[in-house]
Amino acid sequence: MNNAKDEGIIKFKLTLKRAPAPELVQVIALEKWRAIFYKQGLVGEYPNEKIGYGNLSSRLQKKAFIITGSQTGHLPHLQAHHYTKVMDCDLKRGSVTAEGLIPPSSESLTHFGIYEANPTIQYVFHVHHQKLWEMLQNQNCDFIEENIHYGTQEMANAAYELLANKSSGVFVMKGHEDGIISYGTTAEEAGKNILELYRKLGIRQ
Ligand SMILES: [Zn+2]
Repeated sequence: MNNAKDEGIIKFKLTLKRAPAPELVQVIALEKWRAIFYKQGLVGEYPNEKIGYGNLSSRLQKKAFIITGSQTGHLPHLQAHHYTKVMDCDLKRGSVTAEGLIPPSSESLTHFGIYEANPTIQYVFHVHHQKLWEMLQNQNCDFIEENIHYGTQEMANAAYELLANKSSGVFVMKGHEDGIISYGTTAEEAGKNILELYRKLGIRQ
């Protein structure tokens, strides 16, 4: 099974209201970490499939968040207009309402489920790394079961069970090849969670 092939394809019903891009100041922390992850190959594009992977978001208010736009994985640096505001989602209907200049990441519903799970979480970083993904499954790392598809009500329920009492950490999505999620109350926290794992597991590029 190669779920990586699913990456980058928007499966939700999208209502995109054309609106100004987020302000630069709203994306600066995301962009800082995205550039670091890009260098490490944690965000990027699968060369054969030409499909982007990895997406970062930060909560704006209750249900709204800013997230990297769809099909931006191949770019080393993003501008503010590559980011979009997700205003609301409906996990039951599988729908996303967004405002901006480009469609939000194909994994917006996953980010939404995580923000819903715990109101203290302010940043969600989703990266891909095969070795880290495999190693974390052999460690005592939090995970979401293989049969739970991301961006669904089941995924939101699983996230709720996992994250209700945790505001910072990392988990593996077993059913989403190479897929790792880090979350935190600040961008630094969410970013360092991943870099520390890199160090701890002795992973080199
Ligand atoms: Zn992914």
